[in-house]
Amino acid sequence: MIIDLRSDTVTKPAKGMLDAMMSAQVGDDVYKEDPTVNALEERIANMFGKKSALFFPTGSMANQAAIKLHTNPGEQVICDKYAHVYNYEGGGASFNSGVSCKLIDGHRGMFTANQVVESINPPDFYHSPLTSLVAVENTTNKGGGACWDFEDIKKIRTVCDTHNLGYHLDGARLWNALVAKDETAKQYGEVFDTISVCLSKGLGCPIGSVLVGDDALMKGAIRIRKIFGGGMRQVGYLAAAGLYALDNNIDRLKEDHKKAKDIGVVLHELSIIKAVEPIETNIVIFELESHVDESEFIQQLADNNIQIIGMGGGKLRMVTHLDYTDVMHEKLLSILSDF
Ligand SMILES: *Cc1c(COP(=O)(O)O)cnc(C)c1O
Repeated sequence: MIIDLRSDTVTKPAKGMLDAMMSAQVGDDVYKEDPTVNALEERIANMFGKKSALFFPTGSMANQAAIKLHTNPGEQVICDKYAHVYNYEGGGASFNSGVSCKLIDGHRGMFTANQVVESINPPDFYHSPLTSLVAVENTTNKGGGACWDFEDIKKIRTVCDTHNLGYHLDGARLWNALVAKDETAKQYGEVFDTISVCLSKGLGCPIGSVLVGDDALMKGAIRIRKIFGGGMRQVGYLAAAGLYALDNNIDRLKEDHKKAKDIGVVLHELSIIKAVEPIETNIVIFELESHVDESEFIQQLADNNIQIIGMGGGKLRMVTHLDYTDVMHEKLLSILSDF
């Protein structure tokens, strides 16, 4: 038994999801003739109270399409220094959109409306790049699954309105935030211009992300998706997994959150561990005491069939998910307690 806690992307579709995929009605989605993709897009657009939604192969492509939609080359995107769009999308913002990022030194990947105001370049000052977009991430990945306070998100909307900026949410793990904070997709749809959500993280699909927005923006999105090479044909087999996941795998995220908290409690008590970041959702980030060798610690866990990853800067990460079972959980807690 391998206990794989490297990411919530390691899940494999189980029987119910596979059955849904195999019995999907499909068509050519580049001609918008795939009924299952159309159903998924309509359902997610409705959840967020947006006019339109578009299926993407990856969250990175959905985010990059959003950046392209909201910016022109030479302009600047405001995001946190931990942002996935800045750190983990291969430099796509500069490669695809020719934009730079103004990084905010936030708290666990989150920042305030005042910090946004301070980061906006004066539009008449032609020496500096024109600020055109603010990108927020909820939950924050590198920030340890932290959830934004919705009031802060609304205050930033006001700043975007005042300064004529686009407002994008990287909601790869927004489902976790909705469950943890008892929020609704609609309230997010009211505030953001575009939102990307992943089906392939906590929801357990093999592939898939969806970008939502209003009609005019999304008309641009389908063109950009085509340019990025993301126009797919009988992709309803994958959209069917998404529909199945929306029905079956959202509420259960609380189990992942509870297990992550249990892990945090055990880690807290270990003398080799210096700090455990607050655990709000399914991500556990912790630091070892300086005398403990990081790679040795990871290897010792690996010898016990437990896989975790380093996040750099002495931080380690465990992520709970659909395929991390109760039996694995008991075993992990008992192995950790013996460290
Ligand atoms: C996983 C993730 C994405 C998208 O990743 P893909 O692997 O391209 O699907 C985007 N943002 C965050 C915060 C993520 O964790």
